[in-house]
Formats: sequence, structure tokens, C-alpha cells
Amino acid sequence: MASYVTGLQCRECGRPYPKAPLSVCEYCFGPLEVSYDYSAAKAVLSRAAIEKRPPNMWRYQELLPVDGEARVGRQAGFTPLVRADNLGKRLGIRELYVKNDSVCFPTLSFKDRVVSVALSKALEFGFDTVGCASTGNLANSVAANASSVGLRSYVFIPANLELGKVLGTLVYRTNVIRVDGNYDDVNRLCSEIAGKYQWGFVNINLRPFYAEGSKSFGYEIAEQLNWRVPDCVVVPMAGGSLITKIRKAFTEFEKIGLVTENGCRIYGAQATGCSPITTAVKSGRDFIKPVKPQTIAKSIAIGNPADGYYAIRTMNETRGWGEDVSDGEVVEGIRMLAEEEGIFTETAGGVTVAVARRLVEQGRIGPGDVTVLAITGNGLKTQEAVQDHLTRPESIGARLSEFEVKAMAALTAR
Ligand SMILES: *Cc1c(COP(=O)(O)O)cnc(C)c1O
Ligand SMILES: [Zn+2]
Repeated sequence: MASYVTGLQCRECGRPYPKAPLSVCEYCFGPLEVSYDYSAAKAVLSRAAIEKRPPNMWRYQELLPVDGEARVGRQAGFTPLVRADNLGKRLGIRELYVKNDSVCFPTLSFKDRVVSVALSKALEFGFDTVGCASTGNLANSVAANASSVGLRSYVFIPANLELGKVLGTLVYRTNVIRVDGNYDDVNRLCSEIAGKYQWGFVNINLRPFYAEGSKSFGYEIAEQLNWRVPDCVVVPMAGGSLITKIRKAFTEFEKIGLVTENGCRIYGAQATGCSPITTAVKSGRDFIKPVKPQTIAKSIAIGNPADGYYAIRTMNETRGWGEDVSDGEVVEGIRMLAEEEGIFTETAGGVTVAVARRLVEQGRIGPGDVTVLAITGNGLKTQEAVQDHLTRPESIGARLSEFEVKAMAALTAR
């Protein structure tokens, strides 16, 4: 396969850089981004050509930054886009969809997309050791995918993560380092380590490549809507990368002619207990004031988001908005999606559903807007969020009388 990547480029001053494990412009400190030869990609990427390919994120490989065949995460992506009529009725949206990355392979979050790209690239660059600073899902994905190709991995997490996220990392026999502090402390430590050790840190020195993996989430939405860009998407934000890459995906599809229109309004969602990006949008600021996270939505609890500035611009320039919800609403959001659609999402998904409800109440999303909710992770990993809100039933003897007298009585009493 030919490579369609022309190199890296500074987002701010435009200086070109070679394809290398670099993430920051040495002149202006702007972030580096991957650039492509779009006319060459356009010549091969027709709807029909893509539709013939296997159902995973690599069906868009000309728009992803690996040079050969991907060597990691060959099965990631192409998760279901679920028509969510029940939830739509409850929220007041006639055509609502859930893009369900709570079943992404292999570790049940959208992070498998970014890690597939980052580790494929790490192998191309010749790294034998990889690492990450994580709020949980990235840890799971780096550990699993590194194991699958025999890469050594070091995974750094805040000490207070949910048990499911910790066990779901340790099981892959990685090196887990629990750090006393929040994600921003972990990230600062990792930047120092990345400067000293020759490791491929997926969200530090491999970040330009890693971040491109998120575009596949947007490509799939458009393809699964039968080559249509939705009117609205609601996206949970941590570092603010996914939301910018969904926009980039729609823009690229329009540029190479795979969709004819793109008027998508992009809405960002955070938990109020860690809402540096939505707070900036709501107060009309174009810069981030870092915060100390305090929320059950730990997977998106980043107080100083690396792509916050670009996330703000994404919402403003697409005429979207940013909203945040309390931890109580996060739990309600999780339960609404489970009760209405049979999908158990983690706290970040609860944030997204609850924010969508708020946006409809505010009249920002109308009943006729074709809307997609980005459900990015699986509820089995954050059981702590709901365990005190659900009543575990008392047990009964295995007798009909006990069922009819004890169990039914208890159920009707609820
Ligand atoms: C990491 C993560 C996000 C947000 O990712 P960013 O690109 O950093 O904004 C959203 N949802 C879940 C479940 C995540 O793990
Ligand atoms: Zn620059």
C-alpha cells in the first residue's frame, strides 16, 4: 500500500516536519498535525471501494497515518450506529442515533481506535517500548494492544481510578504505575519521562498520529448514515481531541467528495466537576482556565486539556455549543440509555446523554435535527457509578411460593 501521508505540519505557524515521533513545533510550540495528499486519496477512495472492505476502521486507511498495512488493532472500529427511537422519544428528537463504541474491539472504548494507529506507528518507528498517561480507557487499550504484538508497555494512571479500569489493565501483564495525583499530574510526569527514555508515548511523542485514529469515529458515522453528515453530534470531551477529529473527518469526507453536504453542529459535553472547556465556551472565552477535577466521570476528568483551545473553536465554528451536567445527571444519563436502548455505557456516556437532554431543553437541538450521540465507553468498567443507585434484590428459596409471595411482593413494592 502507498502512503498518503506527506508529513507533519505545525497547526499554528505551518512549518513542515518529517514523519517522526514529534508532537510540538520547536519554533512556536504549536501542536503538530499529520498532513495528507488528498487528491491522491480521492482518486482511490470511492464509496463503492470503501463498502467492499472489511468492517473495521482500516477501511479508511488512506486517511490514516500509517505507511504500510496496520500491524496493531486490525479489528478495531466499525461499531454499530444504533437507531435510538425510544431514547429519541424521551428526549424529543425524531431521528436519533447512538454511535456505540462501548463495544469497540478489543477493550470496549473508542481508545482502541487511537491506540491502533499509535502502536502501528510505534512499530514502524522501531520502538520496543510504549507508554501512556491515562484516565483509564487508554490504559486498558495500550496494555491490551501492546500485549497483542509483544511490545513492552508502561501505563501511568491516577491512583483513584475505578477497579474495573485498573484490573482491565493489569490483566494484560503490563507495567502499571499508579500516581498519587490527578490526570494532569500523571501527564506532567509522563512528559518528563518521555523526554528522558526512548519510549513511544502514545499521547505525548506519538500524539499527532494517535489523535488521527479518532477520525475513524466520524467517518463511520457518515458512512453508516448512508453517506450523510448528521445535523448534530454530541461528543464527550477530556483532552478535547475526539471532538476536533470528528469535525476533521466530516470536512475531509466533504473535501474528497464522499458526502455532498456538511452543516454539522458539534456539541461538546463535560461533567460540571471538570468542565474547563464547556465553561470557556459558555463564557465566550477562547482560552482554557485549568481546573482541579472533582467528578465521577473520571475517564473525561482532565483539568488542563491539551486540545481545549481547538475544541472551543470546533464548537464555535460549527455553530454548536458546550454544556456540562452534575454527577447526579450523569447517573440519570447512564440509566436512560440502558432503560430505553439496552446499552450500558460508562460515565462519559452518561455525560453525553444528559447533555443531549439539556441541549434539547435549551432548544439548541431541535426535534427534526438528525442527531448522533457519541457513546465512547462501556458501563461494566465503571460499576461504582451506579452501584449505590440500583437496589440489589434479596434472594429467595427456589420455590414457587417464595417467588409469588416474597419476590413479587418486593418487586411491586418498588
Ligand atoms: C478519552 C475519552 C474521551 C475523550 O477523549 P479526548 O479525545 O481526550 O477528548 C471520551 N470518552 C471516553 C470514554 C474516553 O475514554
Ligand atoms: Zn509552529
